[in-house]
Amino acid sequence: QAKASGGNQFRLYETNMADRMRNHAVLDGKLRTAIEQQQFVLYYQPQISAETGTVLGAEALLRWKHPEQGLIPPGEFLPRAEENGLIVPMNEWVLHEACREAKSWHRQGLGDLRISVNLSPIQFRRVNVASLVLKALSSSELDPRLLEIEITETIVMDNTEDVVSTLRQISNLGVGISIDDFGTGYSSLNYIKQFPIDRIKIDQSFVRNMVEDPSDHTIVRTVANLGHSLGLSVVAEGVETEAQASLLRADGCDIMQGYLYGRPMPSQDFINLVRSHRKLELSA
Ligand code: C2E
Ligand code: MG
Ligand code: MG
Ligand code: MG
Repeated sequence: QAKASGGNQFRLYETNMADRMRNHAVLDGKLRTAIEQQQFVLYYQPQISAETGTVLGAEALLRWKHPEQGLIPPGEFLPRAEENGLIVPMNEWVLHEACREAKSWHRQGLGDLRISVNLSPIQFRRVNVASLVLKALSSSELDPRLLEIEITETIVMDNTEDVVSTLRQISNLGVGISIDDFGTGYSSLNYIKQFPIDRIKIDQSFVRNMVEDPSDHTIVRTVANLGHSLGLSVVAEGVETEAQASLLRADGCDIMQGYLYGRPMPSQDFINLVRSHRKLELSA
């Protein structure tokens, strides 16, 4: 196809390439400024017990609060931050901030709410993630059992022995480990038995159409069964409707996360949500 369109195609490509590099350089500079000026914030999305409806905790999700552009979602800057390595200091901040916040919820009497933090495969390649986790725990004084890290199957494709030993160290601290976006990545299931995993999160792409599409529903049910037979708890991501929630409950999913229960929100809104849930439970 490139041949058929001849020289013009090449020039177009060249121009795009130059544009791309310029855009990257601009974004890199903005990201460095963002780190220096602390323009990042965390939003928290509730995770709900499928059985009782109680708020169990939250997933911390990164947002860039740009002074002119407003709130920028991670999809628009994380891929570049992973390419240029800035993900490493950014995600270190996320881990510390999330632990600090979860500790403050505990201090405010909200009970044992768990915080989930996404980690990047790049961090596992570049730094000692186990000591990073330890540092965040000791500086925040958060109970390790209230921290969970989320990793994706991509990690498996890297240096497996190092990754396994890092994850063992983290798990031995009492920190939970969950596999995010389960079913979308590297499809060898062999890692599941080697890794000290506590939970799997069924990717939202399967949940999205599970009510209409029998094969998506079959995948969800099969993953839930697989998780349970391995002694893992199962989280459903992207739950938006009651119809999805009732199928997921019937399939035995343990934890629900999605817009049906709450979008990612600032910490204070999350605190209010937990408090109003508790009031409902008390009056019920
Ligand atoms: P993820 O970890 O799988 O997080 C779930 C994403 O799904 C979030 O998008 C969340 O807002 C969205 N979501 C939750 N419930 C629903 C729903 O019911 N419907 C729909 N349509 N979407 C829902 P978000 O916040 O834009 O984050 C996107 C991805 O960026 C995350 O996917 C995660 O892979 C990455 N990410 C976010 N924060 C961090 C971070 O601090 N560090 C790293 N390394 N990655 C992060
Ligand atoms: Mg996640
Ligand atoms: Mg996910
Ligand atoms: Mg993801």
